[in-house]
Amino acid sequence: MSGPSIVANRLSSVKPSASIAAKARADALRAAGREIVDFSVGEPDFPTPEHIVDAGVKALQQGLTRYTASAGTVALRTAIVDKFRRENGIDYGVNEIVVGTGAKQLIFSAFTASLNDGDEVIVPAPYWVSYPEMVVLHGGVPKIVEGPAATGFKLTPAALESAITPRTRWLVLNSPNNPTGAIYSKEELSALGEVLMRHPHVWVMTDEIYEHFSYGDAGHVSIVAAVPALRSRALVINGVSKAYAMTGWRIGYGAGPVELIKAITLLITQSTTCASAASQAAAAAALNGPQDCVGIGRELFRHRRDRMIRQLASIDGIRCDLPPGAFYVFASVEGLIGRVTPSGGVLKSDRDVFNYFIDEAGVVSVDGTSYGLSPYVRFSFAISDREIDRGCEAIAAAVKKLQRH
Ligand code: PLP
Repeated sequence: MSGPSIVANRLSSVKPSASIAAKARADALRAAGREIVDFSVGEPDFPTPEHIVDAGVKALQQGLTRYTASAGTVALRTAIVDKFRRENGIDYGVNEIVVGTGAKQLIFSAFTASLNDGDEVIVPAPYWVSYPEMVVLHGGVPKIVEGPAATGFKLTPAALESAITPRTRWLVLNSPNNPTGAIYSKEELSALGEVLMRHPHVWVMTDEIYEHFSYGDAGHVSIVAAVPALRSRALVINGVSKAYAMTGWRIGYGAGPVELIKAITLLITQSTTCASAASQAAAAAALNGPQDCVGIGRELFRHRRDRMIRQLASIDGIRCDLPPGAFYVFASVEGLIGRVTPSGGVLKSDRDVFNYFIDEAGVVSVDGTSYGLSPYVRFSFAISDREIDRGCEAIAAAVKKLQRH
């Protein structure tokens, strides 16, 4: 006889990460012998630059193999302070910085540190899949506010104003955005800031992990630089995963008021103790070292973005514009809804389209529903030109096989 479930009640309403699940599906299909193009990837496909790897190896050889301070080494936190000053025009002290095992751990810990049961967190949709689930995990209530294609997938000041209640704890902003690539301009950030200035109980968590993947002239601006008065209630989240192709090193960082940074650090002391010592040394080398690798990565991704859009936008039933940032195309598949597959099924949702692309084209993507806006599909262009061409051609051929009702 089995006893009660070992799994806590609070997990019953938490969904697994759709992008991680899609990647696992691609890996399983490949292992089963199918040729798959994986458009679900959320990481650069090139290796970590050599000088950064060398710094990690050297750290290990020199004996940096022990625990570090829980908030991160002073060397790395100093490199982060310099980075904020140099790239974002924001002045932080070392004691306003915390280093974590990826940006993801810090977002999670920030919610652990700040949310009481029933607290609301405004999450503009489309959103990175993890924000609402993390909020739910902490007894919070995600308040999803849709940013439709007509607003460039962005939150408007009016929509923000009407979503704020006395229970609102955070606004989560993600610019450049995963999954749409939307980037908030300085003016747009100032307008959102004006709303926040009228509601001093609301904090802003600004996830800037894609900052270096911005393809226009204006580039990325942090809301803390655009609205310095928000600094006292802002947590800036960033990391080295995407900019330096370091996803597996697991180093992210947060910057904000000391009270919050101390609370997050307390959680680290009672959970992971600290981020990996050698990875911290490598991250410091990434931030302090030559930055040309960042620009090279951006130009490569710009070229891939243009290549993917050229092909996808010409497919009947798929609509997409050039994303201003990040490395994803968030394409409307509204034109495919209602079409009939060769086996007689009707595509009723973007989830059906996602499944059809796997079955018929051997292409793994991620459905827009998982990001809070449908009917869309997210395609990552963090893969080679050859794979982009192969995947787009396979999708075009699969779409041709669909019949209209
Ligand atoms: N924030 C966003 C918007 C992301 O897309 C991701 C990863 O996909 C992360 C944070 C997590 O980054 P890290 O590797 O630093 O945990």
